[in-house]
Amino acid sequence: MAFYSTRSGSRATASQAILWGLAADGGLFVPGRFPQVSPEEIASLQKMSYTRRAALILQKYLEDFTPEQVRAAVEGAYGDGKFDCPEVAPVKKLDDHTFVLELFHGPTLAFKDMALQLLPHLVTQAARMNGEQRQVSILVATSGDTGKAALEGFKDVPGTSCTVFYPQDGVSDVQKLQMVTTGGDNTCVIGVEGNFDDAQTGVKEIFSDPAFAKQMDQRGRVLSSANSINFGRLAPQIVYYFSAYADLLAQGAIELGDKVDFCVPTGNFGNILAGYYAKNMGLPVGRLWCASNRNNVLTDFFQKGEYTAKREFFKTISPSMDILISSNLERLLYEAADRSGAQVKEWMTQLKQTGRYAIDDEQLEWLQSIFKVGSATDEETKAEIKRVFAEGYLMDTHTAVASRVLHDAREKGEKLRPTVIVSTASPYKFTQDVLEALEGAADEDAFACAERLEALSGMPVPPQVKELRSLPIRHTLKCEKQRMAQTVLAAFDAK
Ligand SMILES: *Cc1c(COP(=O)(O)O)cnc(C)c1O
Repeated sequence: MAFYSTRSGSRATASQAILWGLAADGGLFVPGRFPQVSPEEIASLQKMSYTRRAALILQKYLEDFTPEQVRAAVEGAYGDGKFDCPEVAPVKKLDDHTFVLELFHGPTLAFKDMALQLLPHLVTQAARMNGEQRQVSILVATSGDTGKAALEGFKDVPGTSCTVFYPQDGVSDVQKLQMVTTGGDNTCVIGVEGNFDDAQTGVKEIFSDPAFAKQMDQRGRVLSSANSINFGRLAPQIVYYFSAYADLLAQGAIELGDKVDFCVPTGNFGNILAGYYAKNMGLPVGRLWCASNRNNVLTDFFQKGEYTAKREFFKTISPSMDILISSNLERLLYEAADRSGAQVKEWMTQLKQTGRYAIDDEQLEWLQSIFKVGSATDEETKAEIKRVFAEGYLMDTHTAVASRVLHDAREKGEKLRPTVIVSTASPYKFTQDVLEALEGAADEDAFACAERLEALSGMPVPPQVKELRSLPIRHTLKCEKQRMAQTVLAAFDAK
């Protein structure tokens, strides 16, 4: 299957789309069509392990990878012992209409592991398939969780390196410690003086700079991306929507063909977009709920049809969603524009030049027929953590945004349908805020909070959090947002 750039007709194979990350024209690669999964195939997923489910779904997109390559990749990512539970992405029942899909059982405790445990396997295979001799140098901008997940995924993977830019004061203590203590000879972590959008914009500029590419080439390196602009990030995320549906079938919560809604805490629009892809592949998805925190640029967009990135940026207790420029929305816009690259390019140019763009009424209506939106403030999010905990489930600050949006909508009369809240992080990644939600106050020390949370919930502190206390800090680089390119090159030359 061919992949196309959202901004022009430029084409790539699946392995090229994954290897390059971004199209040369700055567009994102999208599949030429949505491969179909039949009802029989969906039913058959019930009896499969997560690894087999992943192989079945992914093969449909990764046409130039052999079944053996796909199998090896999914085994390497989700095989024995990689995740802390055999289901990999278990579905828990909150009540008859509400379920939680837990995507935080991987090594870094956030849903980014679902894709970033797999991506290095795909990238290294793609490099081999395309005769790439240079070192594949992954550059990542992170709002907190992608960075650590990418570092863990690419750490010591031969033929690759991984450099992460994070907003210096925009991540939780646990997130920061997770990144700066990362081992591996091929990892580099840099704090940017700015917010996530600054870091992401800087990385995108590096990617679209031919002079930078040349300097990399001279060093025997080629750039690639582990951000969700890379189709290799998106594809593995499609799998868990199918997996959740199969689990609901197996639990007897739904019948084959019944529609299920998903409610997704959203930032860069990658997670929820994978749900939209799953729907297009034949998964009976009803509504997709796009839940935002106070940075509710997407809520406004889906209500008014106008995207306005020039607005106040808020630091919230769900930092991984503190984003004003949602990269993956571009893939949805491409569909809204009937796959017109020229139209998408125009919108993206307007966004860059004026900080806004608008879609027409027909396009808006179409989006509204699929997506529902809502947002929650920090106070509402904390109240939701407390409310749900009283009913026996502990959720993190991001998941609670989604839970609150769904709860609010139902209070306002939204019909009850089986809905899966997509849980994106372990509460132990955001211990202070979660504890403050439960008790009104929390210790300054993230580890003391973790112990208190364990005592309250009976859920053991994950070993990945415990060990952070004693790991040495290995990364101390910082840079201004204008100097990201120079800083990376200097870091490469120093190795
Ligand atoms: C990345 C992240 C999100 C946002 O996901 P997108 O795919 O960027 O919309 C939400 N919650 C957590 C915990 C995350 O790490």
